Amino acid sequence: MTASTPTSPGQSTRAIHGTSLKDPHGAPHLPIYNTTTFAFPNTAALLDVVEGRTPGALYTRYGLNPTTFALEETMASVEGAPAALAFCSGMAAEMTLFAQYGRDGIVCLGDAYGGTLELLGDQLPLLGIETTFLLGRELARLEEALKSGSRLVFFETPTNPALEIFDIAAISDLAHRYGALVAIDNTFASPVNQRVLELGADIVAYSATKYLGGHSDVTAGFLLGSEELLAPLRGWRKNFGTTIAPEPAALLSRSLRTLTLRVRAQNASAQAIAEAMEADPRVARVLYPGLASFPGHELATRQMQGFGGILTVELDADAETTCRVADRLRVFALAPSLGGAESLATQPVTTTHHGLSPSERQRRGITDSMIRLSVGLEDTSDLIADLLGALDEVSR
Ligand SMILES: *Cc1c(COP(=O)(O)O)cnc(C)c1O
Repeated sequence: MTASTPTSPGQSTRAIHGTSLKDPHGAPHLPIYNTTTFAFPNTAALLDVVEGRTPGALYTRYGLNPTTFALEETMASVEGAPAALAFCSGMAAEMTLFAQYGRDGIVCLGDAYGGTLELLGDQLPLLGIETTFLLGRELARLEEALKSGSRLVFFETPTNPALEIFDIAAISDLAHRYGALVAIDNTFASPVNQRVLELGADIVAYSATKYLGGHSDVTAGFLLGSEELLAPLRGWRKNFGTTIAPEPAALLSRSLRTLTLRVRAQNASAQAIAEAMEADPRVARVLYPGLASFPGHELATRQMQGFGGILTVELDADAETTCRVADRLRVFALAPSLGGAESLATQPVTTTHHGLSPSERQRRGITDSMIRLSVGLEDTSDLIADLLGALDEVSR
C-alpha cells in the first residue's frame, strides 16, 4: 500500500501484500532462496551484515534468508505485531520463549497442549526451570504465584479440548502489576479470530502447523511481539538451531494468503455443526464458544473476532460407544492435529490426553465420551451428515 492510502489496509490485504521484498522479475511472490549461505562482494560488505549495520541475508540458520524475512514481515503484518520470529515448529518457538523468559519461574494456566505440558513438567525442571500449573478454577492463586517470583504467565485461550476462555486483558493487568510477562499460545484462535497483543499480552506464540499452514503439510512456529522483547530470542534461535528452513517458510507464506478466507469459512461451518450437535438428543453437551449456552460465550464475544473451527462434543454414551461413533466417521478423519482443510476427529482420551492418569483427566474435566472436532473446509452439510450417521451407533 502506498503512503497516500488514507486508511490502513485490512488483514486479508496484509496477508497477501505483507512483505516489502519484491521479485526482481515481477513474479507475484518471491522465489524460494533454497540456500544455506550468501556471498559478499568484499569483506567490508560482509562485516556490515555480520555486525548488524545493514540488514541482509547471511546464513539460513541465523534466520538471515530472504524467504524467512518475507514470511516474518508478512506474519507480523497479519498479526499487527511490530516483529515476528519464525521457527521450525511450535514447540521450538515455545522452548526458545521459555529459555529466555521462563528462568524465574513460569505459571501455566488451564489446559495447555500436551507437548507443552510435558516440556514444562518433565524436561524444563531438569534445567532448573519450574512451572506452577493452575487450572481455570484455581485462577485466584495466580497472584500468589506472581508474588513468589514467577515472571512469565503462559496460557492458551480457548483451551484444548474444553475450549475454556481466559480473560486476556484482566490476566495481563495482574501480571504486569508484578512485572511479569504474558505469553499466549494463540494457535487455536489464529490472528483472524483473536489478537492477543491488542488485549494486553506481551508475546504471542503459534504452532503454524495448524491454521497458519492450514493444509496439514508444514511444521512451523512463530513468536511475535515488540522488537525489544524478541531481540534476545534471536540468539537462542540461532544457536538452538530452531530456525525455519526456506521451503516450509515459502509454503507458509503461500498459506497466509488464504488465511482469513479459510478461518472465516471454518468458523461458520463449526458454528452450524455445533448448533446441529446441540439439538441432537444423543449429544449430552457441546463445548463451543459460539453457543449461547457455553459458559465462556460472553467473554469470547468480547475478546474474539470469531469463535474458531474447533468444538468438542460430549456424547450421552459410555467410552466404548464413543469409540464406535468415532470409528464410524467417514468424512472426518480420525487423527490428532487441527486447522487443516480436512476435518479431523479425535478422542482426547486416546490422543492428546492419553498420557494423563484417569484421576488427572477427571481433575481437568476430560471425559471418555468427548470427541474433539477440527472442522475443515468440506461442505458443512456433508460434515453434519457424517456426524449424524455416526451417532446412529449410539442408539444401536
Ligand atoms: C500443535 C500445537 C503445538 C505444538 O506445535 P508443533 O508445531 O507441533 O510443534 C503447540 N500448541 C498448540 C495449541 C498446538 O495445537
